Amino acid sequence: MLIVDAHEDIAYSALVGGRDFRMSVADKRKNDPGDSARGREGQATVGLPDLLEGSVAVVFGTLYASPARSQFGGDNASGYATPQQAEAQARAQLDYYRRVADEDPRLTLISTGRDLEAHLMRWSSSGTAAPLDKLGVGLVPLMEGADPIVKPDDVKRWFDDGVRIVGLSWGQTRYAGGTRAPGPLSDDGKKLLKLMSEIGMVWDVSHLAEESFWQGMDIFQGRVIASHSNCREYVPTDRHLTDDMIRALVERDAVIGCVLYNRFLRADWTPEKGKHAVTLKDDVLRHIDRVCQIAGNARHAGIGSDFDGGFGAASTPAELDSVADFGKLAPALKDAGYKPEDVEAIMGGNWLRVVKETLPR
Ligand SMILES: [Zn+2]
Repeated sequence: MLIVDAHEDIAYSALVGGRDFRMSVADKRKNDPGDSARGREGQATVGLPDLLEGSVAVVFGTLYASPARSQFGGDNASGYATPQQAEAQARAQLDYYRRVADEDPRLTLISTGRDLEAHLMRWSSSGTAAPLDKLGVGLVPLMEGADPIVKPDDVKRWFDDGVRIVGLSWGQTRYAGGTRAPGPLSDDGKKLLKLMSEIGMVWDVSHLAEESFWQGMDIFQGRVIASHSNCREYVPTDRHLTDDMIRALVERDAVIGCVLYNRFLRADWTPEKGKHAVTLKDDVLRHIDRVCQIAGNARHAGIGSDFDGGFGAASTPAELDSVADFGKLAPALKDAGYKPEDVEAIMGGNWLRVVKETLPR
């Protein structure tokens, strides 16, 4: 069974957090126990060797430019203040993915249907007995927050350079309202969505403000996803999706990736409660099951872990220490009554469907 994770801030962690993607989680933890100066990030949970060990065949790797001064307060010396600086940050991250893929056969960038077919062929023809190094991880570049797109027209160039998914916001951007920043699409945001429809860019609505979401659903004609969002019913903040939003996404054949961050899984979770207070079989299942119940099938739920995206192993569900453990979700789904084909769909098949249907030949 192949696993797909629709959200990992790999390049940002490497370039800003000093975490080399090629290193295993265990080696990263030796260098940085995660409770030091970079402690906000916590203990590392992502590594290329660990993805392979966990049969994570495909990840959506983000280009995430960090705002210099966010609405969450405080200054960020390494963040961007101008669109050009945001562009430079995202450019450096795309270059990082390219460089690792050039130098290390264990990483493949996926930007066409042909790339994906060849990559999946390695996994299916080699079988589980193949040495992990031969299989490799496929990475689809996803831009989280569109400020690096200096003018809407530039999205074409990003597409030519291999970016296949764009989310308009994180917090507020020049294009849309975002998390803790309610508000509509700007004129440029509307223009950007029209251009994205035309060129076949997938639209990621995670982090989008609700008003921008509903406007965009009218304007954008292409494929929509929510790479990493949970159910607002259980965690009532604007970071997550209402049932109406989930219903509208299902109508567009979207997939919604479940964020495996305890704070986003249980509204009452605090670090003092410890990682064991949140589990796959209760909490992760509850979010995934709600999406499936709303949809009436298992075609729209997936994983969007956000691992190494600002939280560490101490803030992930009890059963998960790193990306190598995602497979433990499968028995939890099975025990809850999901059929084998539904388990496979949620673990990766649904994301593969979206990617297959949207990548250019
Ligand atoms: Zn995010």
